[in-house]
Amino acid sequence: MDDSAIERSEILLRLIEKAARFSTRFNVYPYSAAARIVDELYRLAENIPAVEDPSNKHEVIQAELKRRMASEATTLEHYILGRPYDFNTVMAVYGIAGGDVVGLRDWLDNNRAGALASIDRLFESADVESYELGLHLDIPQVRRQAEEFAAVQLQKYHAKLGRLTQGLSNVGEYLRDISAVPTTEGRSYFDPLTSTLAVSFPAFVYQTEDGSMHIRERELVRIYGHEGMGHGLNQVMTKASGLPYFLTKDSQITQATAESLAQFYQRRILEDLKNSPETQRALGINHDFEDIYRESLDVAIVEEYRLRTMQYGISLLADKSLGSPEDPAAIRRRIAILSEVAIDPAFPQSFIEGNRNNFDSRGNLHPYLVSELRYAAQPVQRALDAFAKNGIHYDPNGRNLIDQTMLTGFWTPIGFVQNAQVAAVEGLSLKA
Ligand SMILES: [Zn+2]
Repeated sequence: MDDSAIERSEILLRLIEKAARFSTRFNVYPYSAAARIVDELYRLAENIPAVEDPSNKHEVIQAELKRRMASEATTLEHYILGRPYDFNTVMAVYGIAGGDVVGLRDWLDNNRAGALASIDRLFESADVESYELGLHLDIPQVRRQAEEFAAVQLQKYHAKLGRLTQGLSNVGEYLRDISAVPTTEGRSYFDPLTSTLAVSFPAFVYQTEDGSMHIRERELVRIYGHEGMGHGLNQVMTKASGLPYFLTKDSQITQATAESLAQFYQRRILEDLKNSPETQRALGINHDFEDIYRESLDVAIVEEYRLRTMQYGISLLADKSLGSPEDPAAIRRRIAILSEVAIDPAFPQSFIEGNRNNFDSRGNLHPYLVSELRYAAQPVQRALDAFAKNGIHYDPNGRNLIDQTMLTGFWTPIGFVQNAQVAAVEGLSLKA
């Protein structure tokens, strides 16, 4: 593969961006121009020689370019033609490994008892929560006061957690390029244009009955890990990476990897904080930290269990071997299977029945629902396994290489793992 394929891909991706901007401005998509882009994406993908097992960085990038161009073509084509898509096509577009979906049932069986125990523990400690009141943000004075309080707390956490990360990994330096501000939006996000981490303050600030304001530390730490260290560092480090254009542009197709990364770092920051009594003291949470930590883990496992139950439900809906979506006996069969793992007894019935019309005439589940399975993809775990196989572990020796490799670039799940494999072998030879 020569550089012209990389250059061509940049032109085509910029045209897709132009089409997206056009559609927000004129409220119509440029269908015929998009059809030409689809043709060119397919042609480009076909002309790039396939690499089965990339053994160096150049081959990893070549394989990823071919994969990415073909997936961009399929996604765009689906959008402009409204073509029907079966389960395997959607899985291929998002690069979701079949094993991640097949493994859902085992995961649920292994974690059900733990999730139930977490709910019990949270319920026991929940009378504290009942005194936590939401903020009356409609009252200007409350809003101003909460916003100022949130900004001060956020600066403190950004500074202390940033310093903690800098002490543990080279990538921590990049946190200096990120500014953190409170937002009234219900969802926190990272804005790559201004490198701003916007943290939803209604999510972590609450009032008590005496009118004083407090923060929900576990939520602030979780958001900082997910949006700041996961999405934020991924964006900032990619921008500074000098990688080919297509690897610096995130898209639907690279979302599974980005979310897997964000989930990894939201767990990581909690462990780092647990291992640093000094940072706990600097944040003034050393006395309560054990409770904060326990509660964070419980909330995380319950949330993950809920999400994976839904993903398992999607895989049951999509599985044609369980019978036609129109056959009442097949619907009951799916509900019965989902009930074996669901914690909420009402969920299997409402989820399976609620989606009974979400099929095309061939019995394919709607692709938008199938695409939710991208959040079941586990590329980070696979990458860590690839590093471990080469003797590189997420410890003080291996962490720099692993962080640097995982946070640089926007990859499809398959490309992400291949890149980690090559980086692990190269990292090993550097040490030797
Ligand atoms: Zn996210």
